[in-house]
Amino acid sequence: MKIGIISGSGLYDIEGFTGRKLVRVKTPFGAPSDAYVTGKLAGRDIVFLPRHGRGHRILPSELNHRANLWGMKKLGVTHILSVSAVGSLQERYKPCDIVLVDQFFDRTKKSLEHTFFGRGIVAHVGFADPTCGGLRRVLADCAREAGATVHVGGTYVNMEGPAFSTRAESHAYRKLGFDVIGMTNIGEAKCAREAEICYQTMAMVTDYDCWKEHEETVTVEMIIQNLAANAAEAKKTITLAVSRIVETDCACQNALATAFITDKKLWPAKAKRDLAPLLKKYL
Ligand SMILES: [Zn+2]
Repeated sequence: MKIGIISGSGLYDIEGFTGRKLVRVKTPFGAPSDAYVTGKLAGRDIVFLPRHGRGHRILPSELNHRANLWGMKKLGVTHILSVSAVGSLQERYKPCDIVLVDQFFDRTKKSLEHTFFGRGIVAHVGFADPTCGGLRRVLADCAREAGATVHVGGTYVNMEGPAFSTRAESHAYRKLGFDVIGMTNIGEAKCAREAEICYQTMAMVTDYDCWKEHEETVTVEMIIQNLAANAAEAKKTITLAVSRIVETDCACQNALATAFITDKKLWPAKAKRDLAPLLKKYL
């Protein structure tokens, strides 16, 4: 088992992350956001990736999720904890709460960039339950133990950004029953599923977007302040969770078993070579 952590910012200095090494990975999909940091946390092998690169240099819609997840797969990662700042669309999710997302709604126009397939091989993975129930249960217990207010389940609407929502959009998302809003996780979750990696979003609420009357509308400053305010709980939650994740025969880890439509005899040699880390189990 190897655990990947993808995080916006603020988790570089997680206490107890030892034996750190920078590892660059080449992928058939271009460059990941940055070098991966491998090492040990709570006795487990860890691979960390700063989602937007060191210094936060990459826009949400510029993220190369395929490359980022490919690198994780190549480094042997089996489980990913994805830490992300989100806006709250419902009163009950307050700034500094944690939401363990169990659904996504895709408002991006980037589905072609959120799959490893094409290249002559057609595959459709199941995505009805886009995050991992096993990881969610572990994170829920650990977040409570770390003293966080945690909500188990919730729908994350993935807008494209980089501008924040208009008030009309924010109200519409609320009426549709969505819980939190962010700009990054749908692409990661889709690529993780195709890579047969268990994936769970740990959404850190930083603001009330712009729908709430008598409340300041979201600003970058607000997001950074509230992320800093609950960084200690987030780090504690992650460290506890890393020590407690157990190997299970999870459906996420066999997502491709029923996904292929293209006859294997027709799989192009180049695609087989390029996608070998995903396909070798099925060749
Ligand atoms: Zn899983």
